[in-house]
Amino acid sequence: MNAPLNARPRGRQFFNNPGPTNIPDRVLRAMDRPVLDFMSDEFLAIHHACHAGVKRVLKTDQHLFMYNASGHGAWEAALANLFAPGDSVIIVETGYFSQSWTEMAVNLGITVETLAADWRHGAEPAKLAERLAKDKAHQIKAVLCVHNETATGMILPVADIRRAIDEAKHPALLLSDTISSLASMEYKMDAWGIDVTVGGSQKGLMLPTGMSFTGVSGKALEIANRNKARRHYFSWQQMTGRAPQKFVGTAPVHMFFGLQESLRMLEEEGLEAVFARHARLGDATRAAVRAWGAGGKGPQLYGQSTDRLSNSVTAVMMPDGVNADVMRKAAIDRYNLSLGGGLGPLMGKVFRIGHMGDLNEPMLLGALATTELAMKAVGVPFSPGVEAAIDSLAA
Ligand SMILES: *Cc1c(COP(=O)(O)O)cnc(C)c1O
Repeated sequence: MNAPLNARPRGRQFFNNPGPTNIPDRVLRAMDRPVLDFMSDEFLAIHHACHAGVKRVLKTDQHLFMYNASGHGAWEAALANLFAPGDSVIIVETGYFSQSWTEMAVNLGITVETLAADWRHGAEPAKLAERLAKDKAHQIKAVLCVHNETATGMILPVADIRRAIDEAKHPALLLSDTISSLASMEYKMDAWGIDVTVGGSQKGLMLPTGMSFTGVSGKALEIANRNKARRHYFSWQQMTGRAPQKFVGTAPVHMFFGLQESLRMLEEEGLEAVFARHARLGDATRAAVRAWGAGGKGPQLYGQSTDRLSNSVTAVMMPDGVNADVMRKAAIDRYNLSLGGGLGPLMGKVFRIGHMGDLNEPMLLGALATTELAMKAVGVPFSPGVEAAIDSLAA
């Protein structure tokens, strides 16, 4: 018999979804305050501090626009400002999220060519250089890519994508989604030559869902200013005209209260230390998964390119015939552990362990041990893995 809905197990929920992520108590407390007039000097000071802080995290000195929207809104803002129906772009295939961004671009009337890649091995930048070299007329306006493919747990080397564009001597803009890597893994917008970076609030920035942003290069902003395609809410021109807040409509003041605190937390720890912590937790997770599959019968890492495995999320492939969602349901219903599901064609075959944001060693070990418990409870074959995670953390 199913337990009544209000009978959630006692204790904290272990939240290991790769987005949204745990919201630290400090951020929750910072948001627990009365509203401010969004035109007041008091709010403007917070707004300015947040703009400067997000630019430091993006590692850009160029432009930044923020939206009252989840990451999809920032995706749409990037497309709506830069392109008109009939324009052509290339997207580097990585997985479910590159597909979703493609679907959005197609629905906006943009012609999208996919640089196909195997999801488990990842795209080859050299193939992009070859393709762009053939576009002598420079029909292709931009290359779109996802830095951290949250569905596969694999990174795309975006700096190599920029090198491929330059090697082909092609003027295409480079647009990169860093929603699930920002503030978890190294990301250098300006040094890597990225024209538009798409970011969101509810992953490495440890905030509620509902705010997203784009870092925009000077070159991209000029192109946007010349673009006659219709747009309003997400228009960078509209937003610039509404300085200093730059929001079309009401600025989300409570999101800014939270963002100011999360930026403080990131900078107190230090971004390099934040990345190192994510690397430790990522290594430990991978050690556990490799041990689970060591006997040949258990789950395995989904990503096969060992130099591209993500430090913010690990995708785990279940053995043939085992439904990942049955195990996930046991994890959440019986043990209060939330894991991510497989997306698109990976549904039921893959589950995902989020290890980004406000997380430490005991939280990760708890999640890994509880995943073993849930696997045991529903009869998934595996070899023990928690000790391998402990060894990795102790090393
Ligand atoms: C979560 C995510 C998105 C979507 O963001 P929403 O805030 O859910 O709209 C896009 N891209 C990547 C890589 C993501 O991880």
